Amino acid sequence: MPLKSILNYIDGQFVRGTREFADVNPADGSVIAQVSEADESLVDDAVQAARKAVRGEWGRSTIRERAARLHKVADAIEARFDCFVAAEVADTGKPVALASRLDVPRAAANFRAFADLIKTAGVESFYTETPDGKNALNYAVRKPLGVVGIITPWNLPLLLLTWKVAPALACGNSVVVKPSEETPATATLLAEVMKQAGIPDGVYNVVHGFGPNSAGEFLTRHSDVNAVTFTGESQTGAAIMKIVSATVKPVSFELGGKNAAIVFADCDFEETANGVSEAVFLNTGQVCLCAERVYVERAIFDRFVDALKGSAESLHIGSPLERKTELGPVISSQHREKVLSYYKLAREEGATLITGGGVPEFGSALDEGFYAQPTIYTGLRESARCVKEEIFGPVCHVAPFDTEEEAVSMANDTKYGFAASIWTTNLKRGHRVAQQMNVGITWVNCWFLRDLRTPFGGVGLSGIGREGGMHSLNFYSELNNICIRL
Ligand code: NAD
Repeated sequence: MPLKSILNYIDGQFVRGTREFADVNPADGSVIAQVSEADESLVDDAVQAARKAVRGEWGRSTIRERAARLHKVADAIEARFDCFVAAEVADTGKPVALASRLDVPRAAANFRAFADLIKTAGVESFYTETPDGKNALNYAVRKPLGVVGIITPWNLPLLLLTWKVAPALACGNSVVVKPSEETPATATLLAEVMKQAGIPDGVYNVVHGFGPNSAGEFLTRHSDVNAVTFTGESQTGAAIMKIVSATVKPVSFELGGKNAAIVFADCDFEETANGVSEAVFLNTGQVCLCAERVYVERAIFDRFVDALKGSAESLHIGSPLERKTELGPVISSQHREKVLSYYKLAREEGATLITGGGVPEFGSALDEGFYAQPTIYTGLRESARCVKEEIFGPVCHVAPFDTEEEAVSMANDTKYGFAASIWTTNLKRGHRVAQQMNVGITWVNCWFLRDLRTPFGGVGLSGIGREGGMHSLNFYSELNNICIRL
């Protein structure tokens, strides 16, 4: 059977580029499609199509019209729910149960949330008293930025893409998206859905390829791209920042993390052990919010490490297509090399291995996949590289603490600052510790519980700016203040 082709989508048409690259299923290493790479001239076509669209029908559409069409996009995603799940599972290797409960429902929810929000979003207005008594009225109007370049990673491909596409379109922009080279399928499927939902040609464009000297760089460098929003590694964010500085574009960056979970002895033990296990291992540890550093109050340290070990060892590792699978492979052979290199480094740095540390064996085609064992270490110094650097795999280091101050100081001792979770039944302590976390989001007695209206982003190496709710609307629009002398 000929391999499926995944094409670029420009101005409402699927377009072939000059070169192709393989889309690999991480569960068994098989090639599932050939992806057409966009060269610089195709990226330019996509940007010009987006520019024309934003100056045309879409740019003139009312908020009510745009919101109605975004609702249709959400409906159309749900109508093709199984197709989206299958594409996401094949590209990422994530368990079908996870893609069905998280990635695809959240994609539809992103469109509905921002369609509804834009309909009720207000703008500032000020009555200004002037010395001559004539006074003035100031009010702001919200205008689209223009063409937004959206660059996304492979861990939650559709979820993170729609998190940016939905508010960008709600604000009247057009977009050119560059999904990760590892996970090109769902962004392309979304193009079909956009067409069905009546989104005009040129409003949503997809270019495939890599970062440096490929579609990612061509997009960020393009002088007709008015803003860049990016989710991915901190180093990539730094590279993009350099490139966009030449054309002075606004940027929004959601980057890496080395997140802490702090477990107090007064926590609800069972709920906490389950919650922390999910925070470490969900999506094979490949969520920017995952906890790679777990700090546990000494009184319950040994018992908690045991419980976490039990959870890790009971996770069902297997084919992503089986409903009972809880842990799939990591994204690629290259990424597994990185994760395993940290397993080796942990040993060299003197860690005690509690569980895992290697590669599972299946005796089936899955042995060709990119699986890594869920792994727990203890005993590392806080300055160890494994405690400082983002690994982005199914792994954590657990360390004891004696006082609240010590826990706060260890959790904050990082150049990243994305998320933290605090586990305690003492509400006063929950508030007190949460407010001291130097991060963009802190959970108390939960993890990854998201309200799409809240600010989302990181501090330090974890990002620039906030998206979510009004923060997204404010990033994806220009506010033009109008001052009227009365
Ligand atoms: P990555 O930075 O390697 O790639 C992300 C995207 O950027 C891809 O589409 C890639 O092709 C593109 N890219 C790479 N170099 C580029 C360049 N020079 N110019 C333009 N585009 C370029 O990240 P990844 O490996 O795909 O994803 C994992 C990383 O993403 C982890 O660090 C994780 O913490 C982070 N992440 C952060 C969030 C968040 O919300 N903060 C969410 C998910 C993932």
